[in-house]
Amino acid sequence: MAVADPRSAPHRPNDHQPEAVERRVAEALAALSLEQKVRLLTGADFWSTHPEPAIGLRRMVLSDGPVGVRGELWDERDPSVSLPSPTALAATWDEALMERVGALLASEARRKNVDVVLGPTVNLHRSPLGGRHFECFSEDPLLTGRLGAAYVRGLQAHGVAATPKHYVANDAETERFTVDVRVDERPLRELYLAPFERMTAGAGAWLVMASYNRVNGATMTESALLASPLKDEWGFDGVVVSDWTATRSTEAAGRAALDLVMPGPEGPWGDALVAAVRSGAVPEKAIDDKVRRLLRLAARVGALEGVPPARPAPAAIPAAEAGKLAREAAAAGMVLARNQGDVLPLDPEGLRRVAVIGPSAARGRTQGGGSATVHPHYTVSPLDGLRAALGQRAEVRYALGTRIHEGLVPVTGEHVIDPVTGQPGVHVRLLDAQGNPLHEEHRDVGKLTYIGDRRANQSATIEVTARFRAVEAGRYRIGVAGVGAFRLTGGGRVLFDQTIASHIDDLAAALLAPPHLGAELSLAAGEELDLKLTHAVPPGAIAVAFSLGVEVPALPEEEELARAVELARSSDVAIVVVGTTEQIESEGFDRSTLALPGGQDKLVRAVAAANPRTVVLVNAGGPVTLPWRDEVAAVLLTWFPGQEFGNAVADVLLGAREPGGRLPTTWPAREQDVPVLSTKPENRKLVYAEGLHIGYRAWARAGVAPAYPFGHGLGYTRWEILGVDAPSGLAAGEAVEARVRVRNAGRRRGRHVVQLYLSRAESKVERPALWLAGFAVVEADPGKEAEVAITMAPRAFAHWAAGGWQVEPGAYTLHVGGSVADLAQQTTVVLRG
Ligand code: BGC
Repeated sequence: MAVADPRSAPHRPNDHQPEAVERRVAEALAALSLEQKVRLLTGADFWSTHPEPAIGLRRMVLSDGPVGVRGELWDERDPSVSLPSPTALAATWDEALMERVGALLASEARRKNVDVVLGPTVNLHRSPLGGRHFECFSEDPLLTGRLGAAYVRGLQAHGVAATPKHYVANDAETERFTVDVRVDERPLRELYLAPFERMTAGAGAWLVMASYNRVNGATMTESALLASPLKDEWGFDGVVVSDWTATRSTEAAGRAALDLVMPGPEGPWGDALVAAVRSGAVPEKAIDDKVRRLLRLAARVGALEGVPPARPAPAAIPAAEAGKLAREAAAAGMVLARNQGDVLPLDPEGLRRVAVIGPSAARGRTQGGGSATVHPHYTVSPLDGLRAALGQRAEVRYALGTRIHEGLVPVTGEHVIDPVTGQPGVHVRLLDAQGNPLHEEHRDVGKLTYIGDRRANQSATIEVTARFRAVEAGRYRIGVAGVGAFRLTGGGRVLFDQTIASHIDDLAAALLAPPHLGAELSLAAGEELDLKLTHAVPPGAIAVAFSLGVEVPALPEEEELARAVELARSSDVAIVVVGTTEQIESEGFDRSTLALPGGQDKLVRAVAAANPRTVVLVNAGGPVTLPWRDEVAAVLLTWFPGQEFGNAVADVLLGAREPGGRLPTTWPAREQDVPVLSTKPENRKLVYAEGLHIGYRAWARAGVAPAYPFGHGLGYTRWEILGVDAPSGLAAGEAVEARVRVRNAGRRRGRHVVQLYLSRAESKVERPALWLAGFAVVEADPGKEAEVAITMAPRAFAHWAAGGWQVEPGAYTLHVGGSVADLAQQTTVVLRG
């Protein structure tokens, strides 16, 4: 039978005076000429919209998102709170925590005068190779939708707009501007659109971002999907903003339900759209609808005079509080995948010597690359965190073990001083065509990003000078990461003078993960060298980004490894931190392999052979293969944990906190086992041939066991599922509440994520092998029982057919457990027709 969706009635959970807002918006709209209206529909610059003083409208600032609020300046002078990657947040399965994260982001946004946060990113983990996997939540639409909705509520409850992105089927990066995703209506509805529905119809998001790609032939900024289901069926009354530079036409996009073109001020709308309206090619009422939505957004965030914002501005959250939440969230998302012989938590009393080993140990990766990057106030590495936690009690020693090729790393005060001010860092001058300085500044780091910065865009040359000091003797590589014409001199000698071509046809990727060019120099310890890097700014550039970088001398590979092994052998425990790099997990390209880079697998095996108490921390934003996983005592998946990485690691390893995470996505044992892997379009088309079967649904169907299944994660106690009851005989289309009884069978208080899955053996329609239908968090003291009620919405039983949601009456099997592969109990739910 067909079911009405309870979430599809338009409602405005975040507005407190909707009628007053609509009146004010109508008045403002009526006062604008066509030219004024159209002007509002393209950004004023890279990150903000046009003001219109005549109607009391101020500019609004939009900013990435989603794990920190960057603000308009993209460098170390405007630092941000840096939270764990969305994969880590999703691993918490904790909606209350997500709301608190949203509230913290709202406070960050207000501190930086940001009105709109460009997040959450809610595309699905269709393939683990997806470049922005770390930036999305999960392979499951229910988990993605519920966590995304909590994030939206948390932000908007404090008057800052959320922007679920990228609508829709932007689940990989290869050819992202042009790829045509071919996906049938049923998987589109049940998988890829479902999270957006929850975040708009359910949580009332104020914006949605239209993606770069095509879906079934139409580029998303012109797609009919913007009107339906988003605006009509789901009642979305907010703004559809284009992804940056995703708008490709005047008329088709103007007629479509796209509202705001970003960035500006140039773009395909402007005067051309005014002309299209005058010629009748685009109806003026389409323009009015777009402007009405933009003004409604302005009213909500407090940018339109005469109406109070939807919510009062959030109280500023002090840095210390923010740090505490970042630490809590990081630990809550860490997944303890293996814990042989209960090696964890470590007993600090029994530790005298701790070895901390690995390329990510002393300089952990706290975030993925791309537009989601923020400049944190500080970061704590695993080594720092463990040293701080263990203090004088144990000797914490470090070895690199193996170097992973990261190329040039932007210079910092460790290596350079500004020759003009004498401070640690570099000196930057923006010069006009005659070589006259337009502007000069001291910078702490050699990474420069000028986006929509007029002075940088108008300059002919950017010059960076620094006095480099070799900390130790050896072979250094000094150079640039960037695209375009660069000249580097060292001690007055030209090291290179060359144009670096972009390796990729994607502006964002070229800017954010650029190619490198370096010169090799042998330097004595303490030797100094004056460096001067000049970059010829291309005329008309809207974004300039490059860095002056260095690669420091390395020990021979075997020596590095031998040191680590020796350290492990002479320690009570060996903690090895392995991971990926910014060249691997970032925006604009997909991963080419799931293997850990460099000699890391070899390192882990060598350390594990030397010390049976080897604990491996996996510092990656998405799945990597761990061929040694059964040879080590413990495996802790930390993801990219944000600024508090090391403190959260210490909390978890030493048992101050439980590792709270449960996998939001399947971790394969071998790349060739992955049921849906390829992200490579063929002839510009990426066919979602697997239909409904992605993630754990596909693994179950293939009958192959992964390394770690969806939902898996150990805590520091053990849980038994004692039983499950669910009513039978309810009418199809009603919600079903299951009651699950659990017992904490371990020796300490803990938290468990109880998961419900459905399957249906006798189905008339094709079904996934099983699917997540609900979940809840339960906590209990040791030895204690607890009961938890979990509601399965009518949609949990529904499938999309014949243009609507349908529920088949009859029997469904309800499975309960702690992961998709650990379903201890089951019962039958029968729905009446
Ligand atoms: C990304 C978006 C981001 C935008 C602005 C685009 O390249 O796809 O997620 O919000 O840039 O930085």
